[in-house]
This record gives sequence, C-alpha cells and structure tokens, in this order.
Amino acid sequence: MKSHAKVVVIGGGVVGCSVLFHLARHGWTDVVLLERDELTSGSTWHAAGGMHTINGDPNVAKLQKYTISLYKEIEELSGQATGVHLTGGVLLAATEARLDWLRGVVAKGRYLGIDLEEISPNEAAELMPLLDPKQFVGAVRNKEDGHLDPSGVTHAYAKAARKLGAEVERFTKVEDIVRRPDGSWRVITNKGEVVAEHVVNAGGLWAREVGRMVGLELPVLAMEHMYLITEDMPEVAAWNQKTGTEIIHAVDFDGELYLRQERGGMLMGTYEKANKPWSEFQTPWNFGHELLEPDIDRIAPSLEVGFRHFPAFQNTGIKQIINGPFTFAPDGNPLVGPVRGLPGFWVACGVMAGFSQGGGVGLALSNWMIEGDPGADIWAMDVARYGDWATMAYTNAKVRENYSRRFSIRFPNEELPAGRPLKTTPVYDALSAKGAQWGVSYGLEVPLWYAPDGVRDEFSWRRSSDFDHVAKEVAAVRGGVGLAEISNFAKYAVTGEGAAGWLDRMLACKLPKRGRMTLAPMLKDDGRLIGDFTLANIDDGEWFIAGSGIAEQYHMRWFEAHLPKDGSVRIEAPGQKLAGLAIAGPKARDVLAKVTRADVANAAFPFMAVARMDIGMAPCLVGRVSYTGDLGYEIWVAPEYQRAAFGALMAAGEEFGIGLFGSRALNALRLEKNYGSWAREFRPIYGPLEAGLDRFVAYGKEADFIGKAAALAERKQGGKLRLRAFIVEADDADVIGDEPIWFDGTVRGWVTSGGYAHHAKRSVAMGYVPKEIADEADGFEIEILGKRHGARIQSAPLFDANFERMRA
Ligand SMILES: Cc1cc2nc3c(=O)[nH]c(=O)nc-3n(C[C@H](O)[C@H](O)[C@H](O)COP(=O)(O)OP(=O)(O)OC[C@H]3O[C@@H](n4cnc5c(N)ncnc54)[C@H](O)[C@@H]3O)c2cc1C
Repeated sequence: MKSHAKVVVIGGGVVGCSVLFHLARHGWTDVVLLERDELTSGSTWHAAGGMHTINGDPNVAKLQKYTISLYKEIEELSGQATGVHLTGGVLLAATEARLDWLRGVVAKGRYLGIDLEEISPNEAAELMPLLDPKQFVGAVRNKEDGHLDPSGVTHAYAKAARKLGAEVERFTKVEDIVRRPDGSWRVITNKGEVVAEHVVNAGGLWAREVGRMVGLELPVLAMEHMYLITEDMPEVAAWNQKTGTEIIHAVDFDGELYLRQERGGMLMGTYEKANKPWSEFQTPWNFGHELLEPDIDRIAPSLEVGFRHFPAFQNTGIKQIINGPFTFAPDGNPLVGPVRGLPGFWVACGVMAGFSQGGGVGLALSNWMIEGDPGADIWAMDVARYGDWATMAYTNAKVRENYSRRFSIRFPNEELPAGRPLKTTPVYDALSAKGAQWGVSYGLEVPLWYAPDGVRDEFSWRRSSDFDHVAKEVAAVRGGVGLAEISNFAKYAVTGEGAAGWLDRMLACKLPKRGRMTLAPMLKDDGRLIGDFTLANIDDGEWFIAGSGIAEQYHMRWFEAHLPKDGSVRIEAPGQKLAGLAIAGPKARDVLAKVTRADVANAAFPFMAVARMDIGMAPCLVGRVSYTGDLGYEIWVAPEYQRAAFGALMAAGEEFGIGLFGSRALNALRLEKNYGSWAREFRPIYGPLEAGLDRFVAYGKEADFIGKAAALAERKQGGKLRLRAFIVEADDADVIGDEPIWFDGTVRGWVTSGGYAHHAKRSVAMGYVPKEIADEADGFEIEILGKRHGARIQSAPLFDANFERMRA
C-alpha cells in the first residue's frame, strides 16, 4: 500500500468505486480506495439491482439519467460485464391523485430529456402482462428503467478506475483518521498508514462510524429492506417465449411495490409501513456478507395488495426472501460534498439508490474536488442541507417516516409530522393560540398560515382549504398592517478590522454606508450565484447579513473556507440566538412609531436604513426592508426579548387592525413583486444577469470580488437564460415548481416557483426561459397537472411597480 496519496476513498461499495473511477477519469490518478473486506461488502451486494431515472428533484433525476448512461462506458473500459438489462418500465397509478402526480413527472421529463409517456391501464397491461388493468386508473411508460448486476457494476467501476491509474486495496480497514498540522490527513488502517490531502467517506453502512473518526455525526440510518423472489412462473415463460423479451419493470405506487423479472420468476420488493431500522446506534464491524432474518408479517399488507394487483403471484411459490440493510438520510437523498469545518474531508454516503445515483454522485463529487464546484445543481444531495439539529433521534424519526412513505404522494401543502416540533421560538405558543399552521424549515417550526377553529389543510394538488384564509392575511398586509415571524432567515454577524475588505471581495454588490442596507448577490468563481443576501452596515466594522434559512450551513461552509487566516475577520451564524419579526403594510410605520422613541419618519429612517432601537422594552435591530414589497420593517431580537417585542407590536397594531400572516401569504405577496428567492429562482446554475440580479452587481467596483471576471463575461455575452414572471390562466390549481414552460408548442423552460397572488388576484409563475424568447409577448403556456394553460410575461411587478409604497 502506498504511504501517500492525493485522495483516499474509504469504502468499496458501488458509491466509493464510482467516486474512484470519476476522480481517475477526471485526471487525479494518485488516488487509492481502501476496502475493509472484498469489494461490495456493505449494502451493495444484496441489492435488487433496479435502476430508474425518475426522482422528485429534477437535478437528481438528471444525475440518475447520467448514471444509467454510464454503464456502457465502464463496461467497455473495464471489460467487466455490468449485466445491464434496459427493459423499460411502467409506473402505475391506482388513484386519480397518483395519476395527477405522475402527470407532473411526465411534464418534468419533457425538459429533462426523459422520455415518459402517459398510457392507459390496458396499454400498461399489454406491456406488463402480469398486472390487472382493472386495479389501475392510469400509467406512465419509462423506456429508461432496467436492472443490472450490482457486483458486476461495482467491479466494473473499480477495474475501469485501475486502468486509469487508481489503486484499490482490499482487506484494508480504516481504523482512524487524524488531521496533521499541515491540514492533510493520516488515514490509519490495519495495514499501516496513508497520508492524504483528501479523504472521501463512502463508508455506506459504516458511514456514521467513519464520520465519527473525525468527530462528525452524520444524519444517516440503515433500514431493513425486503424483496422476494418467486419460483418460476408459467406466465413469465409464456411471455418470454411469445415476445422474446423479458417482462418489464413495474412500480406500483399505491401498492408501494416494485417488480421485475428474475430468471424464470419475478422479484417483488416493498417499502413497508411497519419498517425497522437496523443497528440504530452503531454498525457492527463484523457484519459483511450475511443477510438479515426475513419477516414476512411486516410486508404481508403490501404483498396482499401486490397479489391483487398482479394476480399471477397468487399461483406461485416464494423461493426466497432477501432482507438486507441500506442507509438513508432523513429526506432519502444522498449526502454529498465537503464538510463544513473539515477542509479536505468529503462525504458520499446515504445513497439509497446506488445503481441509479452512484454515477451522478461520483461525477459531482469528483468535479467538486478537482474543479472546486460540483458542476451541477446538487443542492438536493448536498450534505450542507443539514446542520447540528439533525441529531441521531431526529434522523431516526425522519428516516423511518421517509422509508414508510417512499412511494407515497406528498402534496404540495402537506407537512410531514415526524421529528417535530424540534426547534421552536419563544412566540411559538402565542402563534399556535392564534391558529398557526406550522411548517418546518431547517429544523425550525415556521408559521405557514393561520386557520380558524376547525379548519385545517386539506391535502391537494389544487387550491385548498387555506386559500380564503391566506387571502385575508394578504389583505391585512396590503390594506393596513400585518406581522410575520421571520426567525427562519439565516443571520450572520461579520466583525473585525478586515470585515469591510473581506465582504467587498466575497459579495458582488457595492458595500452600503453606515446605517444602510443593500441587496447582496454572492458569486462563485464561475460567476454564478452562490447566495443572495441583505447586507447591513450597522457600524463600520460591524456587519449583519440576512439570507436563506435553509442554506445556513451551505453559506457558512463557503464563508469559512474564504476567511483570511490572520483572524482579522470573524463570522458567526447566531441561528436561533437571534429571532425575527416583520411588520409590513401601509400602516407599518404607524405601528413602529408607537412602540419606539426612535425617529422612524421617512426622512430619518428611509427605505434600506438600519438601526438599533428599542421596541417597547426590547432592544432590537431594525431594518427598513420587506420581502412583501410593501412599506415594512424586519426586526431582529434576542429570543429572550421576542415575546416582549411581539406583544408590543401587536398591542400597538390593534388600532390599525394588525393581522398575522404566514409564509404562504408572504409567498403570495412577493410573487406580485417578481421577487425571487434562494433555492428557487436563485441557484448555483444561474448567473446574476440571467437571474435578474445584475442590477445589484457592482461590476465596476474596485474590489476584485469572487466571480467578477466571469460575471463581466456573462454581461458581455448575455448569458443563456432569463428569469421571468408569468401570469398564468390557471383554473383551480397554481404552479408548485418544476413545471415545463412551453413556447410555440415546444418545451423551452421550467418553472422555479409560483402560486396565487391574492392581492393582484392572479396566478403567478416564475421560471427560466432562453433569452431569445424572454421578451416575447405571446406564445407561452405553462403545464399544470397535465394541462397546458396560457401564460404571458409580466415584466413590471403587479404591485407597486413604481416603489411608491415601499419607499414612501
Ligand atoms: C435488499 C436491498 C435491495 C436494494 N435494491 C436496490 C435497487 O434495486 N436499486 C438500487 O439502486 N439500490 C438498491 N439498494 C440500495 C443499494 O444497495 C445502496 O444504495 C448501495 O449499496 C449503497 O452503496 P454504498 O457504496 O454507499 O455503500 P455500501 O455498499 O455499504 O459500501 C460501503 C463499503 O465501505 C466499506 N467500509 C466501510 N467502512 C470502512 C472502513 N472503515 N474501512 C474500509 N472499508 C470500509 C464496507 O466494507 C463496504 O464495502 C438495495 C439495498 C438493499 C439492502
């Protein structure tokens, strides 16, 4: 074994081998994979080997498509058979709600280049002869489904990597990982030590244990998973003989089953409701090639449905039940990327569909390690979407919930209950008493809307029980004044003598003067967005930043990686050590003036001013800015004072009819201002010109801010896309996000978010289209639930286009 390497990859499952291959293919050949046993000694060897392109997140779906397209290449390069059978498959719906969901999947496929087609149950039965068409209401055909040989694929990655110069050391167990003073890592094994610049944790079933070696508790948990293999079936033999082809894959969502042919019989697997975690606290090191005890009682309810939906199963025997563990993150997507605070330590774990996702994970991670950027939008897989709040018990609750809902529909207005409430703010009880309906953001309970007694969310793809109540919240803001809790924003305090210079380099905007704020896009080296913030200059040398709450860890990782080593700049994310409230509407200033002695008249405290002031008895930081696009204020307050500030504002607002509003009303309000937001309109694949944030980029400022050269080039060349707001001729359903945008009969763009703008009384969608058509007056349509609706670009905001309210 070599003593030094650029990269040590820990784990020889499908994911580690893919990472190794991609690093070598990308040109890093001084790389070694350490496997404690034979390759495939974790969850990989007993996988059912299914692969498919669809995923709830379009960006993950793209990487799944890439994974499947890769198998031919690694097979040719390695000479190792992967056993790929691209049979195609059907996705089956037994209910109308499921069919609506499938139509959304087909729609996404249009701009992802995934060839999906809605077919009738009878057409599905012609393709997959074992199903009973009477049990279904519709189906979708996917030509890119199939299955493969898990061991063959893993060895093909490893052999291809070796051919490119990478090394694989089997029977080499990593026992500890120690950081050296120069930042490199000592990887200590049972066979000696390797010093490496980078370490990748692809430990699969042992990813937690490998993480613990560097003090990291990763939110992953293994679950038992069962599939059965039948005896040979005459129906299968007859079909094979008649058509000369295998029986295709099927996913029966309402039965929560997946099926495919296995030799002369069938394989049927299920994600059972009565699920069972495996090795909840510590994965035993002596676990290897054994299977777990099957428990047919646990999967019996699903099998019952399966036997009804696929009657031929009633006449056959079960040859074998496989029960094996594999790992999940709380939301079921992989955990990939660099770990905040551990430079050179990377993770590629929690991959629950290694044969659909392993290639994409390897590609993104190798790009990230070599180029400094994953090269794709992988937010849905980024390890930074979790913070310390994702504790072991939280992970356990969420993984179990996610497993049991693997094939369940999640409606756009559906909040999942497991692991909640976790983080709450001091006004939680007070808002609950007012009817707050809670959602969750980065582990924190967030008020979505306020329901009268007896009214609750009715889960639906269409406008639902909250519609009229959210309309009232919007009316309170636009007609008088509303109050929202905004503690879910991420907050950052930047201090130190080097703070201004550092911010000038990190952020693309012009720095605001003392007592002022500005909108602040942050770019990567390639000139694309990596953040959008509000930056406040409280006092030269003391800066405050507010941004997207879900991206706190993501942004701290970026900020900290760019801090000067001399300690001249300090950055802290106070999280819930700083709570937030916002008031907005034409009467907002009157309310504020009643509770503070500070002069908040427009002349003294204009739009984008920031100052410390007391609200009632509570010391606060107040900025005159509002995501509602109205006259408004964001108020930051230590949690111990939040109730006092809340009480003072509500009491002062009474005479103006103050109303509470939640994040759904806020969404409706920002839509009629064409305001985008992080992770929806603003993502790391868009440039500031494309995203309409170029007006906040100080292209001419002296500081050589990160991404400046690339942003200037984008401005010169014009980029490719444009973000636009559309008015949609919707009926009873608005866009959710990820719908296709049609132009002149072809799909040319995609929706990033939208909803109903209650004040303007319009259905609004925001999304990206190629710049060539971005100023066309006619010809657009947006597909909602399988139906195309006329849409037109709304360039000027529907509300307060001249900023008269906001700046008054
Ligand atoms: C019953 C079942 C059916 C499945 N069906 C499918 C399917 O149809 N399609 C699909 O895509 N996925 C399926 N999966 C999931 C799939 O198996 C996983 O996504 C995949 O195996 C994850 O691979 P991995 O490389 O991340 O982890 P693992 O396969 O667990 O590999 C981790 C490797 O790291 C090694 N290792 C760990 N710690 C150390 C250390 N300290 N030192 C050295 N080596 C170490 C281990 O020995 C192991 O070989 C199924 C899983 C099960 C259990």
